[in-house]
Amino acid sequence: MRAHEAGWAHAPGALRGPAWLRQPEDINALVPILWSETAAKRDGVLSIGGVSLPELVAEHGSAAYVLDEVDFRARAAAFRDAFSDFDVYYAGKSFLCTTVAGWIAEEGLRLDVCSDGELTVALRAGLDPALLGYHGNNKSRAELVRAVELGVGRIVVDSFHEIERLAEITASLGVTARVMVRVTAGVEAHTHEFIATAHEDQKFGFSITAGDALEAARRVLAEPGLRLEGLHSHIGSQIFDTSGFEVAARRVLALHAQIAAELGHTMPEMDLGGGFGIAYTTQDDPSTPALLAEGMRAVIASECERLGIDSPRLSIEPGRAIVGPSMCTVYTVGTVKEVALDGGARRTYVSVDGGMSDNIRTALYDADYSATVASRASEAPAVLARVVGKHCEAGDIVVKDEFLPGDIAPGDLLAVPGTGAYCRSMASNYNHALRPPVIAVRDGVARVIVRRETVDDLLATDVGAALEGATR
Ligand SMILES: *Cc1c(COP(=O)(O)O)cnc(C)c1O
Repeated sequence: MRAHEAGWAHAPGALRGPAWLRQPEDINALVPILWSETAAKRDGVLSIGGVSLPELVAEHGSAAYVLDEVDFRARAAAFRDAFSDFDVYYAGKSFLCTTVAGWIAEEGLRLDVCSDGELTVALRAGLDPALLGYHGNNKSRAELVRAVELGVGRIVVDSFHEIERLAEITASLGVTARVMVRVTAGVEAHTHEFIATAHEDQKFGFSITAGDALEAARRVLAEPGLRLEGLHSHIGSQIFDTSGFEVAARRVLALHAQIAAELGHTMPEMDLGGGFGIAYTTQDDPSTPALLAEGMRAVIASECERLGIDSPRLSIEPGRAIVGPSMCTVYTVGTVKEVALDGGARRTYVSVDGGMSDNIRTALYDADYSATVASRASEAPAVLARVVGKHCEAGDIVVKDEFLPGDIAPGDLLAVPGTGAYCRSMASNYNHALRPPVIAVRDGVARVIVRRETVDDLLATDVGAALEGATR
């Protein structure tokens, strides 16, 4: 049971949130670990990158994603420097647009894509295909053909069908493709824990324990058009220490050594995936890239020594840990409602001009977030509130529990930190919502890097015609 599940209390009149949630001493203050580097509050007004959010909203509207460029680049650079002897691939699925792909390349990182759409953005940004990794458990033939023709640096294969497909494609084009084999190491990481288990009942990867991974390597090696670069393992997300990587690395390195011994092929590389955790609330205590690097290096070195092999060149694929904390979402409060609960307690529902269409993670993963008023200071006593969206779904919750000023009212701006990863990239048009813009802020300048959708964007794909003779 997670801590917050145990913490609900419905004592009369006293609504308490999850056990970990503490009422802040100063409701107007920012909790630094949750915010990007340049976030600051003055008289209750939140600014990021030197841009005041009330002014940003006055110009660009809300809801809006606000991306702190300095913070994003600093996090990318921190991974680059801490893992200087690794290749660092930014996981584009966490958030990708042309501008951000450019920042990634400028900071010396490589990029992972997992669809033709993501690949197209990378190319549009001018990235070198040789520095891209291509993921996915069901890449189409067209996607594979394009990747091979472009000379994408590594294609991570995830099924026997895909190995066959890729072999046909390379044979018909008369070229070779560099391939990694995605394996399941029997390690599942989730939030603060990892579970090392033989349980591998999920769609990704070839099982090491069942022998499928070895067989996949054998089949790749048998294809003249495929070059087996290495094994790939990604154990999950929101991982806070290296213990899960340790178990996975041990198993993957053992297979790496077995392939060398039994199949006579020493693979030059190995990828340990992403999944490094960030702080969404005060209960999260993320590690630093430097500590993660140190832990991973130590495990690899000792395992390689034990196996009597040279270490392959390693790579990692952080997504969330780079973009997650760099972005926040700013909303305008539309309505406030007090709802009576069983036992006499009341919960304050604060509705904002967005919701599950711009942040599905609360509904999808039961994710926790925090929020702060971005437009003014308040002296009112704190109330435990729930921030909800405007969609036709009771589960349309943005922040399950947060202390907000008791005088929160329509027109106030609310900012939710840590929304950089898997929010805009998973955003939808549910209820025909227009997806919010992404606005990069830096040195007092706000720059739209993904514009807000318009009704014309929505109607562009709706090719139906109006009723004959309809009046409008
Ligand atoms: C999603 C994913 C990542 C990135 O995960 P984060 O939690 O964003 O770091 C890296 N590698 C693979 C294969 C993934 O599927």
